[in-house]
Amino acid sequence: MSTRTPLMAGNWKMNLNHLEAIAHVQKLAFALADKDYEAVEVAVLPPFTDLRSVQTLVDGDKLKIKYGAQDLSAHDSGAYTGEISGAMLAKLKCAFVVIGHSERRQYHREDDELVNAKVKAAYRHGLTPILCVGEGLDVRKAGNQVSHTLGQVDGALKDIPAEQARTIVIAYEPVWAIGTGEVATPEDAQEVCGAIRGRLAELYGQEVADEVRIQYGGSVKSGNIAAIMAQPDVDGALVGGASLDAEEFVKIVRYRD
Ligand code: PEP
Repeated sequence: MSTRTPLMAGNWKMNLNHLEAIAHVQKLAFALADKDYEAVEVAVLPPFTDLRSVQTLVDGDKLKIKYGAQDLSAHDSGAYTGEISGAMLAKLKCAFVVIGHSERRQYHREDDELVNAKVKAAYRHGLTPILCVGEGLDVRKAGNQVSHTLGQVDGALKDIPAEQARTIVIAYEPVWAIGTGEVATPEDAQEVCGAIRGRLAELYGQEVADEVRIQYGGSVKSGNIAAIMAQPDVDGALVGGASLDAEEFVKIVRYRD
């Protein structure tokens, strides 16, 4: 029986300004009850410009919702116009930072080396990475989803010591399922999430592998989350589109009901 607390994290992507963010978090906070947080850790991942508003609300009202950013710079400070450092996110008391989302890999050409540098930057500043990995449709059609995804895990975790790796969150997100309405079957999700845990055991030992939370992401909704969460190696979800609807996100958090 797993002792891992599931993590339901809402990736807002480039949606909701800082005023809309306040209204949305208020709706979530109002709907969620103390017992929800006993069973599940709940996080929102707003755009950078919303983080200060979310922090003020969470701190002021002592909310149990956690929050984090969708990316960070591999550098700590300096002449990197447009970038946001891990130190800045830590100052805003972010708990999490998404690293290597497929949209960054695709539109910003982020490769495994940069993803690895960002994972190290996150740990330098006490942030928990939500490391995104997963295959595109061509790789899936060729049946290479496991080897492709494990290659991304190896690249991202290069030179990351066990005491850091044990705290990472890994989100398995098949690219063909993100924002497409095409959800992986629970068995598809388990195949790769189980393989990721196996690779973590090879790299760091079974004890560390058993601690790491592995999420599934890709068109998660209230109607499909329970079957996905029933898989032994799935410990939560990274939710994009459905996290923008407060009622729907709360239903996902309450997948056991
Ligand atoms: C995501 O953005 O990580 C994601 C999984 O999006 P969606 O839930 O919309 O597929």
